[in-house]
Amino acid sequence: MHHFRFRKNQLYCENVKVEDIAKKFGTPIYIYSLKTLIEHYRKIKNAFHSINPLICFSVKANSNLSVLKVLAKRGAGMDVVSGGELFKALRVGVNPKRIVYAGVGKSEREIASAIKAGILFFNAESFPELALIDRVARRLHERIDVCLRVNPDVDPHTHKFIATGKATNKFGLDMYTAEEIFLRSRIFSHLNLCGIHIHIGSQITQAQPFVKAIKKALTLINRLRAKKISLKYLNIGGGLGIVYRNEKPQTAEDFARAVLPLLKKAKLRIILEPGRFIAGNSGILVSKVTYVKTTPNKNFAIVDAGMNDLIRPSLYDAYHEILPLELNSHGHRTTKYDIVGPICESGDFLAKNRSMPVLEAGDLLAVMGAGAYGFTMSSNYNSRPRAPEVLVHGNTCSLVRKRETYQDLVKNEIISKGL
Ligand SMILES: *Cc1c(COP(=O)(O)O)cnc(C)c1O
Repeated sequence: MHHFRFRKNQLYCENVKVEDIAKKFGTPIYIYSLKTLIEHYRKIKNAFHSINPLICFSVKANSNLSVLKVLAKRGAGMDVVSGGELFKALRVGVNPKRIVYAGVGKSEREIASAIKAGILFFNAESFPELALIDRVARRLHERIDVCLRVNPDVDPHTHKFIATGKATNKFGLDMYTAEEIFLRSRIFSHLNLCGIHIHIGSQITQAQPFVKAIKKALTLINRLRAKKISLKYLNIGGGLGIVYRNEKPQTAEDFARAVLPLLKKAKLRIILEPGRFIAGNSGILVSKVTYVKTTPNKNFAIVDAGMNDLIRPSLYDAYHEILPLELNSHGHRTTKYDIVGPICESGDFLAKNRSMPVLEAGDLLAVMGAGAYGFTMSSNYNSRPRAPEVLVHGNTCSLVRKRETYQDLVKNEIISKGL
């Protein structure tokens, strides 16, 4: 559920008419509903309250500072995958003891800044990475907690670009290598290897792949226990799917019902890393039709948001519902359109062959489900300034990121002398 609804044929975000926001700040524009963010966070929190897990919002899903602050104020920790995300989490006052750090390519500098900040633990993904964290910790005279990310080799039944827990993916360590490393952990004098991390992919709609992966993690935990190696943490990652179209994803409660019995058996502190589940349906991208172009083959609605604003359709063939901000404004007829952006790429589209009410230049459209992996994946391709972001709370709406300017496009460039 989310708080983007029609009232008298007009789309509202909470109590604010979306058209008014678009008129005030221009298009394209990202709009987030604060109430939806909080409700989704609470759904997970409530479903798992019996084990009181640490819920770390996955910052890469939506790293707007105001969004992070909304969640941090309600007790969320953060799952970060770069020095930049760590910086942003600290910037909004997240307690470092609620920050966990994952990613296959952590640099020495990133590792040092995370240790200095005092994060809860790293999720490490390879032997050479462990060696580097150990070296940096020694240099800083610290001992740091580390979970090993294991790759449980399960198929999450999702798009191949967002599957991360199969043996052929670059993520994590296979079970046997992980066990070997735990057994030989004394070679890392400044690491405390104290947990297991699994994150098998994203937009997973069924509980089964999670259950399979957690069972494999439990097998490893038990093998280690038998060898007198006791752990503190089991981090089950994120990946909960949401409704973009006609998916019937498990609810937070279904998910909890399926995995809680297993998690209780682990008798460890549980970490969850939801991203999309919290932010996905909390945001929309609003765009304006610039031209309607009819060709012998197709109708194109050319809009002012492109793949630089929202790359998911181009990158993953992802489906986003697209709604007019005003229903029935030109009658009830529908036509099929390719809804495409202004970028000079054939891969620049938001929807293909989509049945829409008849569109005219100037019409405003809402691309639904754009709150996760929307703005965070945006770019300046074709030298297009990035869109602004607005956060709606009840009757009020606040600009939480300004639209970029042409000056912003060149602010880090240096025209070489003597050209
Ligand atoms: C991306 C990511 C997540 C969040 O995934 P969602 O599908 O958005 O819930 C969680 N943990 C790790 C390690 C990730 O890389």
